[in-house]
Amino acid sequence: MIDYHLHTPLCRHALGAPADYLEAARRKGLLEIGFADHYPLGLLGVKPAAEVTMSPAELPGYIREIRALAASEKEIAVKLGAEVDYIPGKEKVLTGLLARDPFDFVIGSLHFIDDWDFTHPLHAWRYEDRPLEQIYERYFELLWQACACGLFDIIGHIDVIKKFGHRLPDRAMEPYWKETARVLKENGLCFELNSSGKAAPAGEFYPGRRLLELCFREKVPVTLGSDAHGPEQVGRYFDGALALLQEIGYRELAVFTNRQRKFISLHDHRQ
Ligand code: ZN
Ligand code: FE
Ligand code: FE
Ligand code: ZN
Repeated sequence: MIDYHLHTPLCRHALGAPADYLEAARRKGLLEIGFADHYPLGLLGVKPAAEVTMSPAELPGYIREIRALAASEKEIAVKLGAEVDYIPGKEKVLTGLLARDPFDFVIGSLHFIDDWDFTHPLHAWRYEDRPLEQIYERYFELLWQACACGLFDIIGHIDVIKKFGHRLPDRAMEPYWKETARVLKENGLCFELNSSGKAAPAGEFYPGRRLLELCFREKVPVTLGSDAHGPEQVGRYFDGALALLQEIGYRELAVFTNRQRKFISLHDHRQ
């Protein structure tokens, strides 16, 4: 088993040193972990209302720390990743930036709809600002742009717009789900089963079952992440996540080295 979505305190809303996440992974019997802390928005010239990423000056230290941890660890493969916000118009600068650093994988995530941090509890009230249909429409428009921009290996928490429980009926969602699976496929992308949704008001994984089924039908590769913002969250809800993936038909998880994808069996773990 792997956990490909771990944060560090550099993002200012996570706790625990990277070595503590590694120890948690050891206790859970994980084979491989990937740190994917929030990539500096400052490098993109974006300054959100609340600081939710590491600063540009902290990026080299993050990379050094994770690589040192990887080099000193004999049992568990430790991968260097980043969770990068998709901000429309910043694709070109991001292309140059991401080429500078030796990431094993890059997760592209949406946390912003225009300048609204819609995943932040303090800003969740803005879901009441305008019709939910409009919010969903804009979310998926941005998600598909993120898929098409060619900068990412994995698309993060693909239906995180449901985080606080604001939902459209399934029949309204079906076209969004279908198109999302299609766009992932078309762009050769991988997505993650992100287990953190279980602990959010949404109460289920990102993505939910129907979208997961459509991704499987399109043969879109999946990886697995807890989105841990503390060591105790490493691998959380993974028994249920693996059971669901298995039930839907997935047999493998994607893993990355130097941004090259490989697969391991869903059930590989250390003895
Ligand atoms: Zn975070
Ligand atoms: Fe995220
Ligand atoms: Fe995350
Ligand atoms: Zn996240």
